[in-house]
Amino acid sequence: QKAEWKLLKDAKSVTADGKEVTLAANIGTPDDVVGANDNGAEAVGLFRSEFLYMNSAELPTEDEQFEAYKKAIEGMNGKQVVVRTMDIGGDKELPYLPLPEEENPFLGYRAIRISLDRQDIFRTQLRALLRASAFGRLAIMFPMIATVNEFKQAKAIFEEEKANLVAAGVKVSDDIEVGMMMEIPAAAMIADKLAKYADFFSIGTNDLIGYTMAADRGNERVSYLYQPYNPSILRLVKRIIDASHAEGKWTGMCGEMAGDQVAVPLLAGLGLDEFSMSATSILKTRSLMKTLDTTKMQELADKALDCETAEEVIALVEEYTK
Ligand code: PEP
Ligand code: MG
Repeated sequence: QKAEWKLLKDAKSVTADGKEVTLAANIGTPDDVVGANDNGAEAVGLFRSEFLYMNSAELPTEDEQFEAYKKAIEGMNGKQVVVRTMDIGGDKELPYLPLPEEENPFLGYRAIRISLDRQDIFRTQLRALLRASAFGRLAIMFPMIATVNEFKQAKAIFEEEKANLVAAGVKVSDDIEVGMMMEIPAAAMIADKLAKYADFFSIGTNDLIGYTMAADRGNERVSYLYQPYNPSILRLVKRIIDASHAEGKWTGMCGEMAGDQVAVPLLAGLGLDEFSMSATSILKTRSLMKTLDTTKMQELADKALDCETAEEVIALVEEYTK
């Protein structure tokens, strides 16, 4: 079976009836592009930029960041690299950036909320990204966007930094897609509004499931509520995908669910455009995709959306893939 997967390394990702999707890799450091390429990734769907901040004794400089982004972008040889801006806070701390003590860090000062507050940090990161964009195909996305205003503000800061660099004669790509993570239920509910401004969405199911079910996967007493297949989650995913398509935009998914072999037929049936996962899951997903039929997956997804429970959804998928 593994040998059969290897043959798919340079193949396109297509369903049995010929519909193409993108299978991308999640990476944490620039060196991870080697594994992404070895496993046939068609893009990097999520570059978690936190490593730059966490593997450092102080704030990484613009040049340090530039070198890291450039390395990842060049390493992908023209394939798209989606870099997510700093997602610190929640459970991720920085020794040199003391965060306030909070009762609920996951409902607190994290990700884009810090970036919009500490614009010195945010602008430095954006300049490094803009400079690196000249070396391949960069896309940028903002984590933990909850409102239209947050997205507009972040995008405006990006445009300002871009204009400054261009005015200074620095080479910058002119077609950087600027999108956002969809990981807060409020954002999913106004996906139609956000789709007018964002070039793409990437669904962060790790957080989206936790916030939707109000359950922390790490808390044993409530982990039973952490249900990727709950119809509530599937309905949010559908809403996000449909809203993006209505504006001619695309939706990816970079949470764990994107590489889950039970979820893949459901997500493809809902019309997901890009699946971003750990590199080692890509070839088996490409192999699975070849066995799936679009119309049947759409029927499956329709039935799943109408289920009462996650267990019912799982049973549906198992019957379908049998
Ligand atoms: C997510 O929330 O699904 C996600 C991809 O972001 P992270 O796991 O880094 O919070
Ligand atoms: Mg997240």
